[in-house]
Amino acid sequence: MKVYALVEAGGTKFVCAVADEQNQLIATERIETQDPLPTLSAAREFFANLASDGHSFAAGGIASFGPIDLDAASPTYGQIRRTPKPGWSGIDIRAALPSITPIGLDTDVNAAGLAEALWGAGVGHATVAYATIGTGIGVGIVRDGVVLAGATHSEIGHIPVKRDRIADPFEGCCPYHGDCLEGLACGPAIKKRWGLDLLLLPPHHPAFDIQANYIAQLCVSLIYSFAPHVIILGGGVMQTPGLLSKIRHYTVRLLGNYWTAASHQGDLRNYLVPPALDNSGLRGALALAAAAKARYGIS
Ligand code: ZN
Repeated sequence: MKVYALVEAGGTKFVCAVADEQNQLIATERIETQDPLPTLSAAREFFANLASDGHSFAAGGIASFGPIDLDAASPTYGQIRRTPKPGWSGIDIRAALPSITPIGLDTDVNAAGLAEALWGAGVGHATVAYATIGTGIGVGIVRDGVVLAGATHSEIGHIPVKRDRIADPFEGCCPYHGDCLEGLACGPAIKKRWGLDLLLLPPHHPAFDIQANYIAQLCVSLIYSFAPHVIILGGGVMQTPGLLSKIRHYTVRLLGNYWTAASHQGDLRNYLVPPALDNSGLRGALALAAAAKARYGIS
């Protein structure tokens, strides 16, 4: 049977899976992310066992942690770039899928955004912005089912934001920029600033307004930059009850009455929305594999 080989390569786990051409997952394995050699060997072994069971691969899809070189013309295409993860800098992530072609490759964030655009909360919208606010902050922009790409992936999570130094004296935790958006509003920043995850703080704690303001600044930047038809806000931090409605409130306030893609969206209830998929990373790898097959594959 022709199947897709899928890898969701994360900093703590690799999820390897196989899907049939009706997009149904038929096998999944989680591998703890260790040094590159044992991790990639375990992934290869998973797919080799399936091949020896009679499966043949129509295409592969990899949704990977970054930074990663996505310029197909670059000699370092597919390689993880400078990363604090020991041993991973310079590793070609496609080594998880040996002898499978074609391979669709993108960041985990872009892949998740693609999956939400195709099958989740972005269905029916031409331009979809997907943001994840968790261990880090990342954004993928999808236009008509294709991830918007430049010379490489964007790094919207590191945009500068306005910080009220009296209300928020925390200097930020980004090792490169200090108080960029990620340095102020990712999960580890919240924990470092307040000692607890947002979910564990009492409902009227000032952390909620500070956090909502930073994410609203992100939303406003996305609206001004891309005029998306919808913005999907996912990631662990966004699971905090009440946070999304506060972000809508601050976004309306920051936009003022300026005319934007969000102007006719009222209280933004249908414009700033949660994700609809619970495994958008793996679904994203599937979308990448299917797109690669459509572009380069032999049926
Ligand atoms: Zn930064």
